[in-house]
Amino acid sequence: MMKSGRKWRNWSGIVSATPRTVLYPLHIEEVVDAVKLCRNEGRTLRVLGSGHSFTAVAASDDVFVSLDRMQGILHVDREVCTATVWAGTKLRMLGELLHSEGLAQENLGDIDVQSIAGAISTGTHGTGLAFGNISTQVVGLTVVTGTGEVLDVTEKSHPELFKALQISLGALGVIVQVTLRLRPSYKLKYESARVPLSDCLGRLDELAREHRNFEFYWFPYAEPCQLKVMNETEEPATPGKITGYLSDVVLENVVFGALSGLCRWVPRMSAPVSRLCAAAVPTGSKVEHSHRVYATKRLVRFNEMEYNLPIEAMESVIREMREQMERGGYRVHFPIECRFAKGDQIWLSPAYARDSAYIAVHMYRGMPHERYFADMERIFLRYGGRPHWGKLHTLKAAELRNAYPMWDRFQERRRAMDPEGIFLTPYLRSLFGIEAEK
Ligand SMILES: Cc1cc2nc3c(=O)[nH]c(=O)nc-3n(C[C@H](O)[C@H](O)[C@H](O)COP(=O)(O)OP(=O)(O)OC[C@H]3O[C@@H](n4cnc5c(N)ncnc54)[C@H](O)[C@@H]3O)c2cc1C
Repeated sequence: MMKSGRKWRNWSGIVSATPRTVLYPLHIEEVVDAVKLCRNEGRTLRVLGSGHSFTAVAASDDVFVSLDRMQGILHVDREVCTATVWAGTKLRMLGELLHSEGLAQENLGDIDVQSIAGAISTGTHGTGLAFGNISTQVVGLTVVTGTGEVLDVTEKSHPELFKALQISLGALGVIVQVTLRLRPSYKLKYESARVPLSDCLGRLDELAREHRNFEFYWFPYAEPCQLKVMNETEEPATPGKITGYLSDVVLENVVFGALSGLCRWVPRMSAPVSRLCAAAVPTGSKVEHSHRVYATKRLVRFNEMEYNLPIEAMESVIREMREQMERGGYRVHFPIECRFAKGDQIWLSPAYARDSAYIAVHMYRGMPHERYFADMERIFLRYGGRPHWGKLHTLKAAELRNAYPMWDRFQERRRAMDPEGIFLTPYLRSLFGIEAEK
């Protein structure tokens, strides 16, 4: 539990802050009080989810508000298949609670420890051409604005504000409740295979259209890649299979963790370790209820940059990345993660108005990532890349404004929702290009 005046770090350890005041409200009124306190005393307020963003988007040296005491389901509407939940609810708890109601989210990312509000505030996504990011599952939000007003916002009641709020980096207010569009519970069959990367790239379109959820990982300096697909099934669940547990948790975390330690100690081992991991890609399948299949355990800590790209650019970008890796001599053994998402109309969504590919590069914590990430970012940008808000990137307001057609409209909404700038931390001021405003 965080304490006032004590140092806080994000999951990867790359961001730290020392909040002067930490608050754990129990009710919406206590959130309103926190906002009023900040207004009266000229202070800034940041809501912290689970601290799983790699950027400083969640950091604050002033007032930190955690909604860890505002978790759970408030209301289920079976007729229209929606549920209203407290914004602090962690995805793992949410998945289990919804499952006990016979409901589920249509898609999720690859971990389940984020808070629902944190996940939607940065545009967290999974994979699958038929699905937008998690924010597209939101049909209503209750938010405490920078003036302490409590607003219920839906697409119908506030069409523009809703599109701004769906991904808003905590800059428009404190989201206290979220209403999600759901579907009846379902099971997924997960399958993992090892194939040459050239085969995978040659069949990208087919694989993305044929499977409900398709992603792949390719390894620096190696040819085999890992294909992961998931499809709905009526087959019985195969929970707790010891072999599955061994390959997922032990191989992907304990063994990979030990190899990562070796690479940090002897960086020239990175290429051989990458090739070893490519050769040892776990193959097999499992069947489980959806929310338990999406989530993987991530015990090996790393830093990450992820860019959204127009879907048609994926193959060319990967080819350029491979060429640059040969030239660049980077010490990297983490595979590159490639996913897909449907376009949407959310103002600050990286997938705004385009069906998208996502490509993510990772570096083991404690190993230098700067040159590798910078060179890959240059490639992403040449193809019209937009960064994931929760992952490392170097873009500032001028470039973001070019990348996001609704940027100015978002900033107008921000000023209206938070006229005194209490949600503006130094990081957000620099990101939005408003250093001089206050
Ligand atoms: C191991 C790992 C795996 C990941 N996997 C994926 C993945 O598969 N797909 C993907 O897209 N991303 C992924 N991410 C990124 C992660 O999902 C996002 O960074 C997400 O925002 C983290 O959620 P959080 O609850 O930790 O939010 P935080 O990082 O704590 O906060 C993120 C932002 O949300 C704001 N916020 C939080 N709560 C509220 C609220 N109630 N009201 C207003 N604003 C709020 C914060 O102020 C901040 O701006 C991963 C990250 C890690 C470390």
